[in-house]
Amino acid sequence: DARLQAISAAIRVVPHFPKPGIMFNDITTLLLRPKVFKDAVEFFVHRYRDMGIAAVAGIEARGFIFATSVALAIGAKFIPLQKPKKFPGEVLSEAYELEYGKDCLEMNVGAVQPRERVLIFDDLIATGGTLCAAMKLIEKAGGEVVEFACLIGSPKFKVW
Ligand code: 5GP
Repeated sequence: DARLQAISAAIRVVPHFPKPGIMFNDITTLLLRPKVFKDAVEFFVHRYRDMGIAAVAGIEARGFIFATSVALAIGAKFIPLQKPKKFPGEVLSEAYELEYGKDCLEMNVGAVQPRERVLIFDDLIATGGTLCAAMKLIEKAGGEVVEFACLIGSPKFKVW
């Protein structure tokens, strides 16, 4: 598909960022091309519009970009999942392991209702640790995770 090729070509790959040996996939170059950006959003909208999805959760910060675009297009609510100490009210938290160290995701209490069908978005999946933590957060609130959606899958990693 030529559109998928254009989406892939619009993502800049930056060697040795943020550390030596890491190939960083930079989606901001895709966002500068409105037609390609729109095609990428429409690709996901086409997949998810008839799946009874009530909420699209996006992972801070790049996951917000596609999660909000898709949520608006399919008539679902948008739920931000953020790093600790960003929300002013009561939150649910989920800690997870990174390749080197630990991190945590939080979500507002009441954002997800029991049995709601939720789609989770991030820009990129590597080990899958971040998305798994997001899934546990949604499930803690009683939501049902329908699918994970990402723009980029890293072939370096085998995802469970
Ligand atoms: P994982 O938890 O699957 O190992 O890592 C995925 C997380 O790291 C995502 O939140 C993603 O935004 C971030 N990430 C890791 N490598 C890259 C990269 O090369 N490009 C971008 N845009 N994000 C990355």
